[in-house]
Amino acid sequence: MIRFENVDKWFGPMQALTGVSGEVGRGEVKVLVGPSGSGKSTLIRTVTRLETIQGGRVLVDGTDIASRGVDINRLRQRVGFVFQAYNLFPHLSAIGNITLGLTKLRGMGKAEARERGLAELARVGLAEKAEEMPGRLSGGQRQRVAIARSLAMDPQVMLFDEPTSALDPEMVGEVLAAMKQLAASGMTMICVTHEMGFAREVADEIWFMEGGAVLERGKPAELTSTFAHSRLQAFLASTS
Ligand code: ADP
Ligand code: MG
Repeated sequence: MIRFENVDKWFGPMQALTGVSGEVGRGEVKVLVGPSGSGKSTLIRTVTRLETIQGGRVLVDGTDIASRGVDINRLRQRVGFVFQAYNLFPHLSAIGNITLGLTKLRGMGKAEARERGLAELARVGLAEKAEEMPGRLSGGQRQRVAIARSLAMDPQVMLFDEPTSALDPEMVGEVLAAMKQLAASGMTMICVTHEMGFAREVADEIWFMEGGAVLERGKPAELTSTFAHSRLQAFLASTS
């Protein structure tokens, strides 16, 4: 579903990604971990061309996303993206945030969009908050609305960039639960997170990044055995 082939990314003189390769198969969940500045955000931002790359290729469903003829707006509808925070339009209600894309980008009628939006809100446990404004929702609820909004667009892939790291601790669980449910439903996902419990439970594979490269990768069960890399062990020790 997603393939990184020798991806190089430079910010001016600074190389942020160095020959990153890897695959995310349909229905798979890959979790990216690693210290701050290691290139995790940059890597997933390449998938929707939020970052252009200087070397290598990124393929989504077999198509090189840099090739001519790729409709970037359609690509961004097919690849949902949930960021750390500030996802929602503050002047629109929860349901308004969700129906906007459906009516404006999908040309869906208002009634149908509303029905779809309510179904997605129900999926993340927020049916009763449909009319609430983001400012009156908790951080965890806002992130769940952001997830519902992405899902309403019928994405083939969902990308998460530290969706719980700005939340108060008591709200982390409800967002991770929504992500776990999504993973169980067969969604293809790349998640950047420091939540190692989530990674162990949900990831098909964990990629450990440092200095713009994937230094180690393996199944969660291999984390402490074949994952012998001392940098990874140090990182895991620092997050647990
Ligand atoms: P992570 O998400 O793992 O914390 P990032 O992908 O955000 O790391 O950043 C990787 C490297 O690229 C860092 O050194 C960061 O400072 C740099 N970087 C990220 N975005 C930009 C940018 N827009 N301009 C310049 N440098 C950037
Ligand atoms: Mg980041």
